[in-house]
Amino acid sequence: MPQGTIVKVAGPLIVADNMGDARMYDVVRVSKKRLVGEIIELRGSRASIQVYEETSGLGPGEPVESTGAPLSVELGPGLIESIFDGIQRPLTAIRSIAGDRIPRGVDVPSLDREKVWGFVPVAQVGDAIGPGDVLGTVQESAVVEHRIMVPHGISGTVRWLHSGAAKVTDTVCRLALADGSELPLSMLQRWPVRRGRPYAEKIAPTSPMVTGQRVIDTFFPVAGGGVAAVPGPFGSGKTVVQHQLAKWADADIIVYVGCGERGNEMTDVLMEFPELHDPRTGESLMKRTVLIANTSDMPVAAREASIYTGITIAEYYRDMGYKVAIMADSTSRWAEALREMSGRLEEMPGEEGYPAYLSSRIAEFYERAGLVRCLVGEGRQGAITAIGAVSPPGGDISEPVSQATLRIVKVFWGLSASLAYKRHFPAIDWLQSYSLYADNLGRWFNDNAATDWSQLRAAALRALQEEAELEEIVRLVGVDALSWKDRLTMEAARSIREDYLHQNAFDEIDTYTSLQKQCRMLRLILAYQTRGRAALDAGVDLAPILALPVREAIGRAKYIPEDDLKRFDAVESELVAQMAALMDEEAR
Ligand code: ADP
Repeated sequence: MPQGTIVKVAGPLIVADNMGDARMYDVVRVSKKRLVGEIIELRGSRASIQVYEETSGLGPGEPVESTGAPLSVELGPGLIESIFDGIQRPLTAIRSIAGDRIPRGVDVPSLDREKVWGFVPVAQVGDAIGPGDVLGTVQESAVVEHRIMVPHGISGTVRWLHSGAAKVTDTVCRLALADGSELPLSMLQRWPVRRGRPYAEKIAPTSPMVTGQRVIDTFFPVAGGGVAAVPGPFGSGKTVVQHQLAKWADADIIVYVGCGERGNEMTDVLMEFPELHDPRTGESLMKRTVLIANTSDMPVAAREASIYTGITIAEYYRDMGYKVAIMADSTSRWAEALREMSGRLEEMPGEEGYPAYLSSRIAEFYERAGLVRCLVGEGRQGAITAIGAVSPPGGDISEPVSQATLRIVKVFWGLSASLAYKRHFPAIDWLQSYSLYADNLGRWFNDNAATDWSQLRAAALRALQEEAELEEIVRLVGVDALSWKDRLTMEAARSIREDYLHQNAFDEIDTYTSLQKQCRMLRLILAYQTRGRAALDAGVDLAPILALPVREAIGRAKYIPEDDLKRFDAVESELVAQMAALMDEEAR
């Protein structure tokens, strides 16, 4: 292996000489401590290396050894339920051998080599198979069936296939290659993280990723295979939104990449997820989750890698034909890592000190999401939905990371500091946010949730927009200047905000709302508005309409349990009866 010598150490960046044989992005082992690093710049035989571990105590003269391979992840059974750091070191396994702090230069394989899996063959002896074909399956967790695929660039005829117990590195298949030689395949494969895994073609997504979060599903839905961003100032609820999606999104696999601003955020996820149960399967949420955590004692460079590690794992499950959701919280922290490394490399700084390639790096990440037709298998489709939190300093989204992100993503859930201040959660600003998928997905909602879905959505959005305009008038000339109809509209809008959009992530029932329940709730609130208007037309005063006793029940409709939705019928009948009573009184 080529060996060089350190000439300079500057924080996470070291410069080494005599590295002429190495290639860009090769992984290197630095000093006798064998710290992990990656070559990020090569000039002649001089390499700049970002080191993923603490570099204190290192000095010129120490050896640097290239591994001759780019930064790669291990793919195979055992990913699910694991907690990795940014360069896929298994944190749980490391903790069990070394305690809470990761010792420098630690060498633990990413996937457990000792664990025994049950390999169920799918291919058959004599089959001609190629990249992506399924050799067999392994029950990776109670809810995930792991499909062992032929690695890329390999095809041949199955000569022998294993069945039963096997470790990840055991041979499970022997392939006869075209040249007559034989190739043993195990369940483990590697993939360089900075390169997207291939697929046959990208397809425009037509169905949503249902999240159970009302403001998202109803107003600003994200497509399965779509890309969304959640920018918001500190404390506006980005993390809670990401957690809610990780818990409730209807994805088969969740990859959660945490580059937290606060150390305890990741702890929350680590403590909370095993306790939570997936409503669809009843199993712990960890049974479908891969966590990538950047612990606070890890240097910035590891943050930079974590996003690629995460998306590569996501692509691997996509290739099996799964719906994967990846959350990155927060991409700003990741961009800051880029900035720091770029500064140390003394590159020409772009806007606000970020490197000029910031936008293209952000784009590269989001472009790896999408709904695709997988390489093989008739009709096998897989999807990655990517959701990135952005934390602009001071909440000002004119800064470079927010702007670069907004140019790419199709859904924007803008969190507002003033809503958060008013304790309106999730603080997604309904006037600023958008989903470019909303029109396309409208048909899916009409076909699968309720035939009047698009109408309900449009009516609710209209009421909220009217409210914003009316508020302007109220500010100028006072509420008395408004007609009764306008005041009713404002009441309906208030009800949409408080009874519908406001959703408490910490309430057992309110935390998740099915599409069925979403449309029943919305229908109820809008029925109050339409029936109220009819009553006004019939000459009823505004005051009794506003004071209708059923409004209390409308406000509490969010707490109706999912298995008792028929209670909506009762509230609807009450509404009809009470409104009719007002009109009868007026007629008399
Ligand atoms: P950020 O990540 O943007 O700094 P957090 O996600 O940590 O903000 O949210 C800050 C606080 O706001 C949370 O601790 C919680 O109390 C409150 N909060 C946010 N979203 C919700 C929600 N949907 N329901 C109830 N409380 C929420």
